[in-house]
Amino acid sequence: MEIVAKKAILNELTDQWRKEGKRIGFVPTMGALHDGHISLVRTSKKENDYTIVSIFVNPTQFNDKEDLKRYPRTPEKDLALLEANGCDLVFMPETEEMYPEEDKRHFDFGYIEEVMEGSRRPGHFNGVAQIVSKLFQLVRPDQAYFGRKDFQQIAIVKSLVKQLSLPVKIVPCPIIREKDGLAMSSRNTLLDRVNRIRAPYIYHILQNAVVRASVLDVESLKQWVIDEIHLIPGLSVEYFEIVNEADLTPIKSWEEDNVKIGCIAVYAGKIRLIDNILFS
Ligand code: AMP
Repeated sequence: MEIVAKKAILNELTDQWRKEGKRIGFVPTMGALHDGHISLVRTSKKENDYTIVSIFVNPTQFNDKEDLKRYPRTPEKDLALLEANGCDLVFMPETEEMYPEEDKRHFDFGYIEEVMEGSRRPGHFNGVAQIVSKLFQLVRPDQAYFGRKDFQQIAIVKSLVKQLSLPVKIVPCPIIREKDGLAMSSRNTLLDRVNRIRAPYIYHILQNAVVRASVLDVESLKQWVIDEIHLIPGLSVEYFEIVNEADLTPIKSWEEDNVKIGCIAVYAGKIRLIDNILFS
């Protein structure tokens, strides 16, 4: 496995692979890797000749500087995990390498960046677009793999690819969960013992909500989810929305002919967790 910190070396290697006619799969991450990330690597390995993973904690997507400071960093463990799972190249640049000067680009995603994560984390998706566009231009992958856990991010990245006419296919991948149902996340390691025990209720309540959708209308169900989560001490709902997968507009009735996703953000103590579930 190649470990590369410089753009020039990355370019040299990927140019060579492209000349040989190889397919390149790409998995962008912020490190502190877990089985969710590894599932993306495995899928990429099945579908491509070479798999590249980037590990870069991108400062421009953190609207909260404290969050950036405490974001978990486990580079040695990450490299061992990637090596064991057959990753071909890890790109681990320093911040200077990715941002030799301030990135002043401003992307416009319209409605899809104004709701849910977009409205609660101002500037977050612009930062995501800045780093993903830089990484796509450097790696020039045939396919890039993203987890459905960050459901809204996939919509943003798909729109970015269209806006910049980038020749990459975005492949959404299923959410990987702990045995108790909690969606895997690098931030889970920041949960204290008590909140770690409480956090799986988020998914259990979402699962119950899918069952209750047959007896409650959309608004009543949304309120039911919020009330149920608030029955658990330490958990506080930031938002729960049920949206149309295609354009993230809110669902008004179960009768609508579209794919419905329930998206939630919950604070477990000080740690912010997101999850989502398919309603149809
Ligand atoms: P991150 O390192 O959190 O930026 O995540 C890197 C990629 O891994 C993103 O595409 C995430 O959606 C994906 N990912 C994170 N957690 C999971 C999970 N539990 N299941 C599937 N994909 C995930």
